[in-house]
Amino acid sequence: MSIPAHIIELDKNDALSELRAEFLLHEGLIYMDGNSLGPVSKGAKRRVQETLEQQWQQDLIKSWNAHNWIDLPRIVGDKIAPIIGAKAGQVICTDSISVNLFKLLSAALAMQPSRRIIVSEQTNFPTDLYMAEGLAQQLGKSRCELKTVAKADIGKALTEDVAALMLTHVDFRTGEMLDMQAITQQAHDKGILVIWDLAHSAGAVPLALDLHNVDFAVGCGYKYLNGGPGSPAFIYVAERHLEQFNQPLSGWMGHAKPFDFAASYKPAPGIDRALCGTPPVLSLAALDGALEIFDDIEINQLRSKSQDLKVTLLEALAQHKLENESLKLITPTTPDKQGSQLSFSHPHAYAISQALIDANVIVDFRAPNIVRFGFTPLTLSFTEVYQAAEVLADILRRRTYLDGRFSERSKVT
Ligand SMILES: *Cc1c(COP(=O)(O)O)cnc(C)c1O
Repeated sequence: MSIPAHIIELDKNDALSELRAEFLLHEGLIYMDGNSLGPVSKGAKRRVQETLEQQWQQDLIKSWNAHNWIDLPRIVGDKIAPIIGAKAGQVICTDSISVNLFKLLSAALAMQPSRRIIVSEQTNFPTDLYMAEGLAQQLGKSRCELKTVAKADIGKALTEDVAALMLTHVDFRTGEMLDMQAITQQAHDKGILVIWDLAHSAGAVPLALDLHNVDFAVGCGYKYLNGGPGSPAFIYVAERHLEQFNQPLSGWMGHAKPFDFAASYKPAPGIDRALCGTPPVLSLAALDGALEIFDDIEINQLRSKSQDLKVTLLEALAQHKLENESLKLITPTTPDKQGSQLSFSHPHAYAISQALIDANVIVDFRAPNIVRFGFTPLTLSFTEVYQAAEVLADILRRRTYLDGRFSERSKVT
């Protein structure tokens, strides 16, 4: 496939192109799924090896102090803080998004004793809704009720009986990004606490949690932050709420003095109270190593390249006149409303995603009919994105996706 001169020029002028060498990705594989599972970086690999061979293997239990294992959730949290526009001391790395949402929703309800409604959006990531449902069931209807509305109706749903608004900033299906500042302000005007899920935002789009007065947030370690499979999530609690923030998963790691082994729980003074049990040290080491890359770059640079990469894909597809192919862009076309992915719907979306993967263009499928292209500017080149568009156009034109082998489904899709 010959690459047009203007695409080659874009790669030449790309200030981030050298970062690709920091990742262990094989040539020839076009990885457009860093929004689902970020690739392995050299930093992550080195930190895991060091933690295993020099710390666990050599120093065994002494490592909790000697290598600061005990402080890793906080150390890694403080590295994530600037990526999300937060001052240090408000972010800690622990558990999964699901578990952290349970902590935040519980604490937010307790902070709003005269209110009982949690508002969310009906196409939110299911686990977010499931966790709220579980809490509502546990507390009973008199104390908690989940109300889900369409995106367009969020404003109307913000009434004075609402305790907390829980939203995902970038929609995992459509890639639509919400206006965090405006919505947070709107909720605060009614006395509502706001919880943002940053799973598809952290490490991809500029965020200003402190500046926008966000109350609480959660985010993912294994997506754009490249922490690896099962990497712990992070939780953000604004400094002004830390003292009143009491979460029910009051495990010993969140205690003011875990090694006093006191009979009764007393929460740690700061963000450490968001912890529950023993930290997953190997996973935290991987995430810690993966975050090194973010030391030297501005999120604005990533955002700007991501926007250009998306334009490259759309322009290359437009050349192929695919109007009759039922492929429909479902991501908003306004750049300010886009996260770092483009999603297309198609009746054969699953088979198309399998045919793309077979041709070494790794994308993912989201039920029922979405093919999702993730744009991770740390590793992707303009040439690769152009090639991905050519492969997609070819699959559509030749109807390669009708081949039966592309319709078989595995457990994880
Ligand atoms: C990936 C993702 C999650 C994952 O939740 P875990 O509990 O960490 O598995 C949650 N919310 C959103 C919006 C996601 O995209």
